[in-house]
Amino acid sequence: MNHKLSLALAAALAAASPGLVMAQAEQAADSAVEPVSGNPFFVASNLPYQAPRFDLIKDEHYQPALERGMAEQRAEVTAIAANPEAPSFQNTIVALEKTGTLLNRTAAVFGNLAGAHTNPEIQKVQATLAPKFAAHQDAIVLDGKLFARIKSLYDQRDSLDLDAESKRLLERYHTDFIRAGANLSDADKETLKAMNAELASLATTFSQNVLKEVNDSAVLVDDIKLLDGLSDQAITAAAASAKEAGHEGKYLIALQNTSGQPPLTNLTNRELRKKIMAASLVRGTRGNEWDNTAIVAKVARLRAERAKLLGYDTHAQYVLEDETAGTVEAVNKLLSDLAPAAVANARKEAAEMQAIIDAEGGDFQLEAADWAFYADKVRQQKYAFDEAQLKPYFEINNVLEKGVFYAAGQLYGLSFKERKDIPVYHPDVRVWEVFEADGSKLGLFYGDFYARPSKRGGAWMNAYVPQNGLTGTQPVVANHQNIPKPADGQPTLMTFDEVTTMFHEFGHALHGLFSDVKYPQFAGTSVPRDFVEYPSQVNEMWATWPSILANYAKHHETGEPIPQALLDKVLAAEQYGQGHATTEYLAAAMLDQAIHQQVAGNVATDTLAFEAKALEAAGLDYPPVPPRYRSAYFSHIMGGYSAGYYAYLWSEVLDAESVEWFKENGGLKRENGDHFRKTLLSRGGSADAMQIFRDFRGRDPEVGPLLKRRGLEAKPDSE
Ligand SMILES: [Zn+2]
Repeated sequence: MNHKLSLALAAALAAASPGLVMAQAEQAADSAVEPVSGNPFFVASNLPYQAPRFDLIKDEHYQPALERGMAEQRAEVTAIAANPEAPSFQNTIVALEKTGTLLNRTAAVFGNLAGAHTNPEIQKVQATLAPKFAAHQDAIVLDGKLFARIKSLYDQRDSLDLDAESKRLLERYHTDFIRAGANLSDADKETLKAMNAELASLATTFSQNVLKEVNDSAVLVDDIKLLDGLSDQAITAAAASAKEAGHEGKYLIALQNTSGQPPLTNLTNRELRKKIMAASLVRGTRGNEWDNTAIVAKVARLRAERAKLLGYDTHAQYVLEDETAGTVEAVNKLLSDLAPAAVANARKEAAEMQAIIDAEGGDFQLEAADWAFYADKVRQQKYAFDEAQLKPYFEINNVLEKGVFYAAGQLYGLSFKERKDIPVYHPDVRVWEVFEADGSKLGLFYGDFYARPSKRGGAWMNAYVPQNGLTGTQPVVANHQNIPKPADGQPTLMTFDEVTTMFHEFGHALHGLFSDVKYPQFAGTSVPRDFVEYPSQVNEMWATWPSILANYAKHHETGEPIPQALLDKVLAAEQYGQGHATTEYLAAAMLDQAIHQQVAGNVATDTLAFEAKALEAAGLDYPPVPPRYRSAYFSHIMGGYSAGYYAYLWSEVLDAESVEWFKENGGLKRENGDHFRKTLLSRGGSADAMQIFRDFRGRDPEVGPLLKRRGLEAKPDSE
């Protein structure tokens, strides 16, 4: 029984949302049995580290394994609740931690494949099982006899002689059960169950609509002349996509899930840019079968009503109580404090671009569709380089092995050996075994880096097998990205953004790999949502650390290191565009809060009107910079990040502080890595998140380093 697993499976069944670090599934140490026939999930994998048997797993195995897994866990939990012995920590809490082996084993694979490599059959299982899983969870947390045992232990927690992690586990169970409705009357419990089942179904439909809309909204171009500005590689890819979609001889521009679209940086044809931007922004609002506007309104209403039932003013209040932020007020303050400076910076950036448009004799005002194109021009003028100059230095194998892995070697002493014998679910997926400095085994790492139509947008990490101190199980983790796959025989040359993302996701992977906790509940990334992005953001700092960069940023043909002058420009240019980046992020984060700070009985039914009003009220209604996600394709708010999209910024406060710490202490050194690992990365959720931060940093976090990084500081004379 594992509340983080519950979140993970719920998200999985609703097609996990972008950016979500899918949490952990418990894994018991069954003795390995060769699964020669039948359903491979029914026995523990006999592969190294209990790696999933992707060579045996077929789509038809998921539903029976998930259903049997739920039935088994239900029986295990019922037995714990009915135990005639007086409740003890062992026979109740630890016993709960050990339930659900089959369910967890299956859900960890299903949950990730539903995002990484889905198909109509998997989608059907998601839709069928989402309400059943919600009911399964409810049956456990709303079991009155079980809660009575947990409560009696909780009430005597100080006299049970528990170590700190065990005491925290008991408190966690008590809190989770209460937050899930354990204290409600029987009638209210029934109402809650119906709400949860409906919400689960709506979330599944929403996510499936998002994927169908993003594919259906790809822009078809007849004439290659219109693609002026795109690289040959991008044009080849667009031709291949069109052919695959049955439009041979034409060009299909695929969309990604954010409002902004990468080809807008390069396309010189303004009409085509406008067409792509418009197609991006109307996703989910077109009145077709995949329209999500009514679903957003309905989910907001149900969540507000559920929050009220549980004794909260709003869904946001309910969510934030359990985060390090703590309150709605704290989050609103962070967002609204930064909004004016962010928009002012964005307007400054727009003025520079407008000057270029005017100088070129363009008789128009800068619009959202023009932003990336002219931002690139400013970048070229100011820093005199463009992305195309950079990409030859970012070949994927160099970035991964001589960058990401090399940094982990320097900081933590890790080494990596590719394992071609471990089965994978798609030929693009690669597997590495990870070793400690002394040669001992640490875990397995899967890399699934290329985009494909069966994969949802964004980048994420997941754990197929979490570390488990009860069983001695070592972690199996994976990273996912959406890097366009080059034509056969061509090298994969990455953008600087993709490079940074690779370091970021590997930061999550390290959090999973270094986990050294007793209870699977607390393993790896099982930390508050507004803390989980922090270690991964810290790992981004090594992407531009001089000695790391020198090691991996080499021209893929000549082997020449990236020229120092180009490098200096890249680093300077990193600071450029923060007005836009912060504004689009804040707009989405604030929209998420607005939707979830609505009070039951007064929830908007017109999603688009509500969105417009909310952006205006926050001062973030600046049309050239639309929210990074609009309501109808904002997958985060349907999955595990509802009322939690602010978390990236909250985490960044801690990240910026930690980067300062590394710099103050000599940067890239084993002893610094070891300190970060020991005080923070190894501890998962086994202690209070802010205490873990303090143990690493030596004090409470301050917001200064973040403001400096994002160019949001007060002017020096007003300090
Ligand atoms: Zn992340």
